[in-house]
Amino acid sequence: MTTSAINNNHEKQHADTLIHARWIITVDGSKAILEDHSLAVVNGQIAAILPTSEAKIQWSADNTQTLSDHALIPGFINTHGHAAMSLFRGMSDDLPIMEWLNDHIWPAEGQFVNEDFVHDGTRLAMAEMIRGGTTTFSDNYFYPDAAGHAALEGGMRCQLVFPVLDFPTNWAKDAANYIYKGLEVVDLFRNQDSILVGFGPHAPYSVSDGPIKEIITLSEQLDVNVQMHIHESALEVSEAVEKTGMRPLRRLADLGFLSPRLQCTHMTQLNEAEIQLIAQNGCSVLHCPESNLKLASGFSPIARLQQAGINVAIGTDGCASNNDLDMLGETRTASLLAKAVGQDATALSAWGALEAATINGARAMGIENQTGSLEVGKQADIAAIAMNELENLPVYNPVSQLIYTANRNQFTHVWVNGKVLMEDRHLTTLDEAWLKQRAGEWQKRISASRQG
Ligand SMILES: [Zn+2]
Repeated sequence: MTTSAINNNHEKQHADTLIHARWIITVDGSKAILEDHSLAVVNGQIAAILPTSEAKIQWSADNTQTLSDHALIPGFINTHGHAAMSLFRGMSDDLPIMEWLNDHIWPAEGQFVNEDFVHDGTRLAMAEMIRGGTTTFSDNYFYPDAAGHAALEGGMRCQLVFPVLDFPTNWAKDAANYIYKGLEVVDLFRNQDSILVGFGPHAPYSVSDGPIKEIITLSEQLDVNVQMHIHESALEVSEAVEKTGMRPLRRLADLGFLSPRLQCTHMTQLNEAEIQLIAQNGCSVLHCPESNLKLASGFSPIARLQQAGINVAIGTDGCASNNDLDMLGETRTASLLAKAVGQDATALSAWGALEAATINGARAMGIENQTGSLEVGKQADIAAIAMNELENLPVYNPVSQLIYTANRNQFTHVWVNGKVLMEDRHLTTLDEAWLKQRAGEWQKRISASRQG
């Protein structure tokens, strides 16, 4: 009897899923690209990563996937968005940010946003995100309980940052009411490992000092994250200076709002002192370059932020200002824009961009021990992308191909917690025909009211 036969009979370990891949890009800090390697999943976690020749001897599995032209990467982490707004995709384009918000988005939200809208819109957004290789998303929207249930049903990992505003919306009537309802959502998902709940105060201009102070106290007590749109546009900063004599970030710093639990979205208007302030307080920056470009908000100085040691992650923002949830496209834009803005071709390299879209997002949310890279002991949040299209060849470096050449339709498989959410481009947890029907129904209703 040969050695391998002995192994076959007596020593094989059993996996739930065993994936044989052409490349595994681990994003574990080493810049390793493992060729002809396999990944074993046991109980939702990565149990082994080893050469395929050894995996075939050492492991058996309930499900085996052979992906001979594919790269496995950690699933993307979309750190900033408003998922249900996918139902407003293309509803109002090519407008200045404040006109877009005040005259179009907020009135439409007042008219249409309810639990059904969030139920349907979040599922539509999740379908798009899964098809584009995203495994974790952050959502800042009304009816966060409905979004959380959608995430559980769809199987994605999710951070819900519930809105807080000074003024009423369909979901809550004043800042105290938003906080009260949000704390109920914290309780609701307390025992769900795949769902984080934190505070999502909208912006410095829409939340006054009282509720901000309360959010500081409560987020510390509950040990939860806080996310806010900050310094999104030059107008936001100049209006605050006119009104209060202070730039918004100064006001937030004086209130004691800056901390490692704070995720600052956008940050297109920053001076050197503000960059130091963010770095010293350990805040993360969530960079949404396509939303910033489309609304002409400005350019976040990504290379400078990274030089200062700030954790920079990527988000798509909502579909109403992007108009897609394509993390691969967003990451490419981030890389190209960082070079132009920093006047430095080495800024946000292909590797740096991939890290920003994966492990840096996990760091921003404080879940880097669970996800964001492919390492033994982490949850199996994985995306597989085919690299054998003519447009990708030849493949000198799969990371370069991924960031600069590939497109999101090349993702074939996605797993979260080891559970397959997309298999050969077919969604396993969400119903594509139903989503198309519901999107069509919402479009008819919303179009009719805007014309009438
Ligand atoms: Zn946003």
